[in-house]
Amino acid sequence: MEQQKTQEELEKREMERIYRAILRAAADKVNSDDKKVIRKAYNLAVDAHSDMRRKSGEPYIYHPLEVALIVAKEIGLGATSIVAAFLHDVVEDTDYTLEDIDRLFGEKVARIIDGLTKISGVFDQNISLQAENFRKMLLTLSEDVRVILIKLADRLHNMRTLGSMPAYKQLKIASETLYIYAPLAHRLGLYAIKSELEDLGLKYTEPEVYRDIKLKLREEKEERVKYIQKFSAPIRKKLKEEGFEFDIKGRPKSIYSIRNKMKKQGVSFEEVYDKFAIRIIINSEESREKADSWRVYSIITDYYRPNPDRLRDWISTPRANGYESLHTTVMGPDGHWVEVQIRSSRMDEVAEKGLAAHWRYKEGSSKESRLDEWINRIRELLEKPEQNAVEFIDDFKLNLFSDEIFIFTPKGDLKTLPVGATALDFAYEIHTEIGQKCLGAKVNAKLVPLSYQLKSGDQVEIITSQKQKPKEDWLNFVVTAKARSKIKSSMKEERKAISEEGKEILQRKLKHIKIPFNDKTINDLARFFKLKTSQDLFYQVGTGVIDNKRLKAYMNERSGGFYSYIKSKFTRKGSGPKVPESDKDSKNQVLVFGDDEETLDYKLAKCCNPIPGDNVFGFITINEGIKVHRVDCPNAVRLQSNYAYRIIKSRWVPSDRTNFVSILVIKGFDRSGIVNELTRIISNDMKVNIKSINISGTDGYFEGIITVVVYDKNHLDELIENIREIEEIQSVERKYKK
Ligand code: MN
Repeated sequence: MEQQKTQEELEKREMERIYRAILRAAADKVNSDDKKVIRKAYNLAVDAHSDMRRKSGEPYIYHPLEVALIVAKEIGLGATSIVAAFLHDVVEDTDYTLEDIDRLFGEKVARIIDGLTKISGVFDQNISLQAENFRKMLLTLSEDVRVILIKLADRLHNMRTLGSMPAYKQLKIASETLYIYAPLAHRLGLYAIKSELEDLGLKYTEPEVYRDIKLKLREEKEERVKYIQKFSAPIRKKLKEEGFEFDIKGRPKSIYSIRNKMKKQGVSFEEVYDKFAIRIIINSEESREKADSWRVYSIITDYYRPNPDRLRDWISTPRANGYESLHTTVMGPDGHWVEVQIRSSRMDEVAEKGLAAHWRYKEGSSKESRLDEWINRIRELLEKPEQNAVEFIDDFKLNLFSDEIFIFTPKGDLKTLPVGATALDFAYEIHTEIGQKCLGAKVNAKLVPLSYQLKSGDQVEIITSQKQKPKEDWLNFVVTAKARSKIKSSMKEERKAISEEGKEILQRKLKHIKIPFNDKTINDLARFFKLKTSQDLFYQVGTGVIDNKRLKAYMNERSGGFYSYIKSKFTRKGSGPKVPESDKDSKNQVLVFGDDEETLDYKLAKCCNPIPGDNVFGFITINEGIKVHRVDCPNAVRLQSNYAYRIIKSRWVPSDRTNFVSILVIKGFDRSGIVNELTRIISNDMKVNIKSINISGTDGYFEGIITVVVYDKNHLDELIENIREIEEIQSVERKYKK
């Protein structure tokens, strides 16, 4: 009991200590009224979190207090932000509502708390957002830029105390910090916070690398200090002589930036030459700071030779986030390049704390309104990505350890998918119908095939087609359970429907050739086509795998080779349509037979004397080969109904079918087998001669130039129509010139 009391007292003392530090940090920004509100918020937070503890065992209240301290001391914000920082977890984690906050602290604070609560909701579900979208979302979720700043402070404190979290959470939080928060801090000019977030992020994502560099930096410290002394000695002397008030610091670069250099340049720790920078901070009046900085530059370069490529004048043109400094790299003692940063103490504070510090130096306006001015400036920064935007996005070196990816719809909505998910998974994720009709996708405005594996941050637009249907091979590249089961069940349904249709077709066809549709025939057929079940047979008839030609083959076997006899007997030698001897009068017309439009020997029937142009059919006689009758021949009905299987399709075609060369430009989505399908349609189905075919594809999109030989425009139009039937084909155009 005694000990518990002591513990309690210690904790209370600690709370008061942090509280006082906050007030001290904000002393120049808060008046006595502000202090009352701050105390009120403090009391409420202490009360609301009274029975909560953090994972580390510490009282929960330490967290909002520390966040408020960061907000006041390291970012330089005022009373409103301190109050909001105290209360930032109250609505989410305790019984207090937003209305309570509104009533007790006013609308402004309530809105900030609301924004913070919303943001944390979004971030809990979505780790990695594309930089631009992330920025947009921050803007929509946070009318008040203080929301973002407090969120950064919140994250910084969570990173500082990450050690007590379980390992898997450490990894997630640290990755997210490197991915989102550190670049954001950078963008806002909060360099100190940015560096700390990066180092902490590295500490948990690559602990060995972090420890290794840290250790080596420590080992090198003595040497480094000596070197810096050696380097600065003459400079110090000269600056003193010239009457400068100054401070020279030799600061090692952050662990994270050293590790980046090692990675980028593929070098070891020892080989990174600029592991530290020398910073010369001069106490200079604002009106003289630029001239003084250049004077310092001049002194340094009197002693050390500068590298002209490495001079950066951020004083004449400050960075968008407010950073001002003069950078040069000079050849120091012992042949080492050394980066030197020259700046005034005002510039230094801006560099460390961001623009909050900058506005503090502005004259004239009241303190709170200066802060507002700064906050508006940050808003502008976020709203208008100027030249720095690229840099901002480049900083997003995604290093996620999550097994999820986050994908944007064209409208910017977010979808979560497992790693390895493809464009098709995404389509199903949006809506089953969209998945079923999915033809392809545009990822970041580039066409990709359905099987394209998505990456976090991709923005994906799905292209659908009413003609599209789920395909068996889709199962090879979807990973989500939803897509799999939808594809499977629609394959099953599809199969069933096709089988039923196939059964009807088969019934009709058998009836036509006078073969009874019964179990014996079905079994016969199944055996003939080497199929296991009648369902398989119906399915194959339905899909057209078993077509008339193959059914004829079956019939052929059944009827003892009648057809093959006819064919071998009457097929003409040589190729190409030719006017038969017996038909000299028909001039430019010639008869062709069957689906394949073959030219066979034939005789014209005496009963109806067909002439070119008549609708005709061929009848296979036993002794006289093919006899051609007119469709309206008096014998036609009898022949067709009694000997349907001996009827062969026939039609007149011009014998001098002129050959025209035509070039088609075909564009569409690539997939395996597309070329085969194209050539099948062109040469097998359409009997069109392909002279040349040239297909090139990039990233799932292909363009083909196909030169074909056609009879006339009708023929060509028909061909184009048939090619367009292929799902993946987006366009078929006739090219008029070579
Ligand atoms: Mn928090």
